[in-house]
Amino acid sequence: MAEPRLVEDFHGHTAGERRIPLSLTIWDETLRDGEQMPGVHFSPEEKLLIAEKLSEAGVGVINAGIPVVSDEEARAVRLVASAGLKAKVLAAARTVPADVDAVIRSGATHIAIFVAASHVHLKFKLKMTQKEVHAASIQTVRQAKEAGLHVAFVTEDTVRAPFAFVERLYKDVQEAGADRLVVADTVGIMTPLTFRWYLTEFQRRVHPKDLSVHCHNDFGLATANTLTAVECGARAPHVCVNGIGERAGNAALEEVVMGLETLYGVRTGIRTDRLHELSRLVEEISGVPVAANKALVGYNAFSHEAGIHTHGILAHTLTYEPLQPEVVGRVRQMVLGKHSGKSAIVEKLKERGITAPDPMLLELLRRVKTETERRSKADLRGFLRDYRALFERPGLSEDEFWAMVEAVGIRAVKA
Ligand code: MN
Repeated sequence: MAEPRLVEDFHGHTAGERRIPLSLTIWDETLRDGEQMPGVHFSPEEKLLIAEKLSEAGVGVINAGIPVVSDEEARAVRLVASAGLKAKVLAAARTVPADVDAVIRSGATHIAIFVAASHVHLKFKLKMTQKEVHAASIQTVRQAKEAGLHVAFVTEDTVRAPFAFVERLYKDVQEAGADRLVVADTVGIMTPLTFRWYLTEFQRRVHPKDLSVHCHNDFGLATANTLTAVECGARAPHVCVNGIGERAGNAALEEVVMGLETLYGVRTGIRTDRLHELSRLVEEISGVPVAANKALVGYNAFSHEAGIHTHGILAHTLTYEPLQPEVVGRVRQMVLGKHSGKSAIVEKLKERGITAPDPMLLELLRRVKTETERRSKADLRGFLRDYRALFERPGLSEDEFWAMVEAVGIRAVKA
């Protein structure tokens, strides 16, 4: 019998429908959207460290930040842009000439010019008309092109904007020189089906030279939608390591990359064995813990405890693992506990070259179960208490804020 493979039966059926681009560029947003996650901030040196690791792992484009935000942010972008990375370094700008100037001065070779597109954003946030948005977009795209930058044009909330406006805006910015067009599902409301419809329609009406997407995870669909976008021809999907980002975050780099590599058989240019290291680095620097059950990089992603599973894994890893942990730089873990079975005990003893008769194995198994069942959960409760205290109120505490109000000299005025 042939060696079992994970997806051999699917590929033949789906190949004809796929329009997956032959060359993909992973566009990482960890240092920009990822950093915008509440409570997260990176120093310029931390940004450089993450950027170096992203580049070594094979990421094609790194958004280093928005230089106009602050002097420190401008320094961070300059630091990343001048590090001689293999990845292209991109910086972001609003459709404001001073923002574009700041990107030009940063030394980044790539720019993402962004502006909102939907009614709700234009009316309540930007207080701009469609005409004003259009004019500012064309002006800043031209400005960036004249400075020799590679220009990506992004609208926030693209998918909720009137299609006629999106069509005209994107056609005209492409005409004005934009090299890459980005469709953003800013509040994460697309599903794979609706996004497929949207992107097909977008391509039919706009004819982008180069399409990219930016997906959010508000309904847990960021990765699914991003994979759909690649199926539809998007060539530079946005991702963040560990899926960090605003609110529920962005499409996770490791999920999109491994989804493409393993489920679609597409090469992403990423050294996948670096994904675990990258995840731990971003977890540590961002201070955002990776959930134990997070796909691919979570602590449990390659751990097995239940007897039936352990038995299966020991016989053939494809029984309960879609890919080998080493592929993403990890090792398999066999957990001894309440749900263990005899085969896990046998395997564990083998490590020291020990074999034992059945009655002794069963006695050992009984003790393993009893011990783990009666184990105290006090440590875990303490950890959760601290974790919740930190994450229920990130940023400044109430006391810190009001002390600052007083220090600045702001007083309540009686009406
Ligand atoms: Mn975003």
